[in-house]
Amino acid sequence: MPFTADIGLEVHAELATRSKMFCSCAVVDSVSATPNSAVCPVCEGLPGALPVLNEKAVEYALRVALALGCKVAHQSIFVRKNYFYPDLPKGYQISQFESPLAENGTITYSVTGSEKIARIRRVHLEEDTGKLTHIHTDKEDFSLVDLNRAGVPLLEIVSEPDMHSAEEAIAYARALRSVLQALGVNSGDMEKGVIRFEANVSLRPTGRDGLGTRVEIKNLNSFRAMERAIRYQLGIQQTTLESGGEVEQETLGWDDLAGVTYSQRSKEDSHDYRYFPEPDLPPLVVDTEWLDRIRSGLPELPRERQYRFIRDYGLAKAESSLLAEELSLADYFEEMVRSGAEPHTAVKWITGEIFAWMKESGQEIGQIKVPPGSLASLIGIVERGEINLATAKRVLSRMLAEGGDPAQIVSTEGLQQVSDMVAIRKVVTSVLDANPGAVEKYRSGKPTVEQWLFGQAMREAGGKANPQLVREELQRQLNI
Ligand SMILES: [Zn+2]
Repeated sequence: MPFTADIGLEVHAELATRSKMFCSCAVVDSVSATPNSAVCPVCEGLPGALPVLNEKAVEYALRVALALGCKVAHQSIFVRKNYFYPDLPKGYQISQFESPLAENGTITYSVTGSEKIARIRRVHLEEDTGKLTHIHTDKEDFSLVDLNRAGVPLLEIVSEPDMHSAEEAIAYARALRSVLQALGVNSGDMEKGVIRFEANVSLRPTGRDGLGTRVEIKNLNSFRAMERAIRYQLGIQQTTLESGGEVEQETLGWDDLAGVTYSQRSKEDSHDYRYFPEPDLPPLVVDTEWLDRIRSGLPELPRERQYRFIRDYGLAKAESSLLAEELSLADYFEEMVRSGAEPHTAVKWITGEIFAWMKESGQEIGQIKVPPGSLASLIGIVERGEINLATAKRVLSRMLAEGGDPAQIVSTEGLQQVSDMVAIRKVVTSVLDANPGAVEKYRSGKPTVEQWLFGQAMREAGGKANPQLVREELQRQLNI
């Protein structure tokens, strides 16, 4: 029996404000900062401490809501979501529930060359929790609590279950991440956990209306983890349904090492959290004037940029979507073009040599030692005929490994292409003189020998000769 998958994503994105959501503590790097160095009575949840809303966090959230075409609520309400966990010192999280900041948006994403639209159900503001580190030694087990992250502004973006495969879910997540990056509200650095995903996954017989019973998979911290977890869960549900069983509604974790989902808790309902309005915060009112100001300041979004790449540079759809999806990659490409590189040539070098290097070295585009202007200069050197393509690739490998200016490397290494006709003529003559048998063969009707002689001549010239000129000279001398 064929099945249809319905997948929705909940995305938690930290907002890149300088201070926390309800206090003036700094938002610090979760990896490098000393634990519990950015805390105060408010984010430590001490009795009597009062929250004060961070205006910048609201502004960032509104940017996202507007970019996703949501309807922004004139008034939204903060609530307490009550639950106990050691990384939640207040015993509740300040969030939004029945009256969220914004609702009913959409996002367009591309998957295997075609465009799809997913509906955004809601966008709301809340605060992040602290972080627990569990230590296991031979002698004892214990957990360390770090509250630096407690109270960091968090935006929750919930989609409708509009994705129907793991690929679509990933493409949606990538598109959303690139929107957040373009808006300057989130770095998109998944390794630092500033953006985290949860997927709800269900399966129904194809053609039947309504959704199947869904499970929620939490803590998906990379696109790869998300893809594997969704595939794994869809496989399990299909086996269950085909054997006449029923899928149980539950919350699952994902064990990336073992490649399996595991049960965290069964069926969780909103009434379990005893939501009630936060008595220490007034309703959040967003007036039209503020909203208009934010709307008029929105930057170019990834999809607009993609269309502009097609329109202005004549790029193919797939190329432009590949570049525009990653802010730093799109910036790198445009900087190359501004430095004089022809757009198609720039794309060829980025998707060829640069991608190969990134894959091999594990570096991101922002980490490589070749700034876009240097790559554009290297392309210019090739186009002026000063070095050939093979030499250029060698120069680039060296730049990627050690940095440096391409013109300088070419000149200090003496890599300039030989275009001097006297020198080329000499090389070709000496190769023909040294191989009279081959010349004889050519003249007696074996044209393929020419290619071999060409290789000999290029080698004799140390690989630096202008190949076009060598070929022309070779043909001239052979056909005398
Ligand atoms: Zn604080």
